Amino acid sequence: MSDDTILNLQGLTKAYGKAIALDNIDLTIRRGEFLTFLGPSGSGKTTTLNLIAGFIEATSGTMDLNGEALEKLRAHERNLGVVFQHYALFPHMTVRENIAYPLKQRKVPKAERVESVDRVLRMVRLEQYASRYPKQLSGGQQQRVALARAVVYRPPILLMDEPLGALDKKLREWLQVELRRIHRELGSTFIYVTHDQEEALALSDRIAVFNEGQIEQIGTAQELYNEPGTLFVGRFIGESSIFEGEVNDGVFSAGGMRFPCSSKVPSGPAALLVRPEHFSVSATEPCTLAPELTNHIEGDVIDMVFVGATIKYTLKTSIGEAIAHVPAVGTMEHGIGDRVTIGWSPSDGKVFATG
Ligand code: ADP
Ligand code: MG
Repeated sequence: MSDDTILNLQGLTKAYGKAIALDNIDLTIRRGEFLTFLGPSGSGKTTTLNLIAGFIEATSGTMDLNGEALEKLRAHERNLGVVFQHYALFPHMTVRENIAYPLKQRKVPKAERVESVDRVLRMVRLEQYASRYPKQLSGGQQQRVALARAVVYRPPILLMDEPLGALDKKLREWLQVELRRIHRELGSTFIYVTHDQEEALALSDRIAVFNEGQIEQIGTAQELYNEPGTLFVGRFIGESSIFEGEVNDGVFSAGGMRFPCSSKVPSGPAALLVRPEHFSVSATEPCTLAPELTNHIEGDVIDMVFVGATIKYTLKTSIGEAIAHVPAVGTMEHGIGDRVTIGWSPSDGKVFATG
């Protein structure tokens, strides 16, 4: 295990009878990183987190924390911080008592306890709320107390399962910024679960994309966006246009049209994925597309929206809908109902076998 690895999962599997919740995953978590598990509901994210936390037992596989076999330790012996969406605070204890609880359990002396609680209260910006009870706090404040309680004993890893899931969008976005700051301040490893790709992009150093109990790909947001390894990842992260067709000798074809591509895909059924900023849009006559955009298809504008610096077009083509984001300045505008030509470079189309 290399020095910058904190946690290593090997062949981790969890079965419930015949149903496989987690299917033989391997995952190396780096010391100090903000790693997010992203995937649709039921893809195995919570199962993985619960295995690490020690709330459930693996069917097979190993978990290695700093060279120590994690599965031999009970949940409380693992000394990990945990914040879940509904991981209730103790209602009969004040904010200060809630946060001090894990320190009391660990028999930390009073003076040290007070100092540690003060430190994390400042970190989550709740100094003024120390003597309130949970029911006197908003949902966002309660989650900040839960976060403070989870990190007060300085666990090497903080596990969070959709901790912002119950909060409204504005509060969620503000707390995302706060979480980044707290991660920087603590310098510990964060493992975060969400099904929301925007949240994953906003928070993470790296993202592991889960699908049906397996990890499809792990990488930075940029890597997953620019070089999706599978159609699932391409579809799940960021916006894209996807056309169904087939590949023959390195050429993707759909609806009788041929589109050369640089992806190496065996002949057979396939899908072509193009990111919206890789499309250019021109009038059909005269076509003013840059010469390197050698793949062309005609379409009708069915929607156009100004998004500040760009215009977002929705276009109907004979092989499916296309979404194009083009710079708002320096390009001709096209209105709803206009017939246009859409162009892209063969190197910007990603083709995936679907057979
Ligand atoms: P996620 O957190 O990605 O939404 P989960 O890890 O909770 O997904 O669940 C993964 C799969 O395991 C799902 O199909 C779920 O129904 C199944 N599962 C989870 N917990 C149990 C359980 N206690 N008994 C049976 N099946 C379960
Ligand atoms: Mg879950």
